[in-house]
Amino acid sequence: AKPRLLDDEEGGVLFYSASPASSSTYGHVSLEKERQRLPVFKYRMSILYLVETHSTTIIVGETGSGKTTQIPQYLKEAGWADGGRIIACTQPRRLAVQSVAARVAEEMGVNLGEEVGYTIRFEDVTNPDLTRIKFLTDGVLLREMMDDPLLSKYSVIMVDEAHERSLSTDILLGLLKKIQRRRPELRLIIASATIEAKSMAAFFQTRKRRPQLEGEDHGLKTEPAILSVEGRGFNVQIFYAEEPVSDYLRATVSTVMSIHNKEPMGDILVFLTGQDDIDTAVQLITEESQNSGKSSLGMIVLPLYSGLTRADQDLVFSPSPRGKRKVVISTNIAETSLTLEGIVYVIDSGFSKQRFYNPITDIENLVVAPISKASARQRAGRAGRVRPGKCYRLYTEDYFVNEMSLEGIPEMQRSNLVSSVIQLKALGIDNILGFDWPSSPSPEAMVRALEVLYSLGILDDDAKLTSPVGFQVAELPLDPMISKMIIVSDELGCSEEIITVSAILSIQSIWISVKGQRELDEAKLRFAASEGDHVTFLNVYRGFLQSNKSSKWCHKNFINYHAMKKVMEVREQLRRVAQRLGLALKSCENDMQVLRRAVTAGFFANACRLEPYSHNGTYKTLRSSQEVYIHPSSVLFRVNPKWVVYHSLVSTDPTTNESYTPLGSEPNTGHLV
Ligand code: ADP
Ligand code: MG
Repeated sequence: AKPRLLDDEEGGVLFYSASPASSSTYGHVSLEKERQRLPVFKYRMSILYLVETHSTTIIVGETGSGKTTQIPQYLKEAGWADGGRIIACTQPRRLAVQSVAARVAEEMGVNLGEEVGYTIRFEDVTNPDLTRIKFLTDGVLLREMMDDPLLSKYSVIMVDEAHERSLSTDILLGLLKKIQRRRPELRLIIASATIEAKSMAAFFQTRKRRPQLEGEDHGLKTEPAILSVEGRGFNVQIFYAEEPVSDYLRATVSTVMSIHNKEPMGDILVFLTGQDDIDTAVQLITEESQNSGKSSLGMIVLPLYSGLTRADQDLVFSPSPRGKRKVVISTNIAETSLTLEGIVYVIDSGFSKQRFYNPITDIENLVVAPISKASARQRAGRAGRVRPGKCYRLYTEDYFVNEMSLEGIPEMQRSNLVSSVIQLKALGIDNILGFDWPSSPSPEAMVRALEVLYSLGILDDDAKLTSPVGFQVAELPLDPMISKMIIVSDELGCSEEIITVSAILSIQSIWISVKGQRELDEAKLRFAASEGDHVTFLNVYRGFLQSNKSSKWCHKNFINYHAMKKVMEVREQLRRVAQRLGLALKSCENDMQVLRRAVTAGFFANACRLEPYSHNGTYKTLRSSQEVYIHPSSVLFRVNPKWVVYHSLVSTDPTTNESYTPLGSEPNTGHLV
């Protein structure tokens, strides 16, 4: 490859090219024309034919070829939603569900929530009488099985983004395979962006009993059909960093600036890892471009991660105004779930946030970890959507070739399985180890999950759900520890408060992310409770109510008004579920002692003790003696009480390898259940 320098400025990243390029153009067309120009359009008849004749159809097609937005429409046009039946399409990510549903409603010229609707946890935008195409997360579809085990209202279920192998997708696939035996007329479509199709096909082929007899009655082929949609991506020239990059945020900023200053028009898509580094990058790039004078003209820098408001999402999808260059800084949601038009340059940090679970220490971390080659290729592909593009990898070619793993590990094999076990148990699947998984979880992880559930009183000696607690926990759409906390709060007489706290815990963050961490810390101090973050949350909520739910009040206190509105909504939903489960809604007023008891009853497995003589606030977890620290965002940071229970554990910094608890609550000392 001929070396080519992109950036010769001091502090910049040096790149060299590793692939050749070619050229072409793209014009503007109407929505209907746009639909027909998508690669899947040519396969419309084949897809409908395969779905008609096969129980399971596997469709592989490059990102942006139209799988998600078009196939449900084709199915509807062909009559699969007639007679009150519904076509379902699942996604692993909430934001993708919302965005794709909105797009399909727009293409069909209908109001979102009527013929086309969507459901994500705590947000149901469907109409039971009208909705014919329904987008939903794989997790929500799993929940629907509790009320309707055979998913009888659906005629076709499209499990999308199957290559991602999310935890819920895998469980769903195992269960759908079972459902097909009882409902041979149900059609499955497995859609995927990569050619992992063969192992999927093998999974659907190997059936324990011989279901062919049932299937043949319907004239259906039970072995899966595979269809591959030929993409139309343009060539993407790859550039690698000449030297390993030590700080990918700085490298991102300098690469964006240098593309903006030296390369022709075209939008830039940057892959970072999460809200924190994305917000920082947006801020740094905005500052940098203002400092450098003329280049601030014509750049619009936008973040993309789940939890954005509707309006911010729309900004990302709207075309760049004339003469402006859009720079979208995204999590890996833009890797395959969402397609942005107009992207010509991709910057790939080489990292994403991934869940990792260690069954030995029983600790689950959300860590910034290296992506796989398969991901890197997907990311690069995003640059070749409208014309030949360029991808700048913030790592060396040597690293890509010799060190990057070929493919990611299925989430199933790197997750805590507590929630999955409850869901399967609630669906009457007792022999969980013998369950037909697309890829088996580790026995250690399974044993750990059973242990926790047993200690929480959710499973009995025979590993069956206890009555009523186990069944109640399964009904609540929350982490089992939170659900347990709610159930205990009923006996303790503090369910109103605990439900408030639970609602806040299910929202990403109620704080506004701001420039200076200091201002936010000061704002938090106004609400800080010595009892810990849970009571602090309660204080925020009470303050919000006292302000008459004022957005001004939120602004003044660095609280995200939209998040608080969402908290109110979630809280109402949880209250309704609690009432349905026969829990009494009671307030403990100002008795924080009982509230802490309830928190501890749910989270005792996450208890940690301050190391005696520790000067730097080192804690050890009780279950595995793992060293942990209180996260700086917790009000207990530096307070360092003797005992804490934590809500979650993260290790976010790959360079320092620090792990800490972001959320602490001091339990009643000596009252660890
Ligand atoms: P696939 O599922 O195969 O990756 P999609 O069906 O998601 O493909 O996308 C097909 C086309 O629809 C793409 O050109 C994409 O840009 C467009 N599209 C999808 N969602 C939106 C949206 N919210 N706004 C504008 N265009 C969209
Ligand atoms: Mg898609």
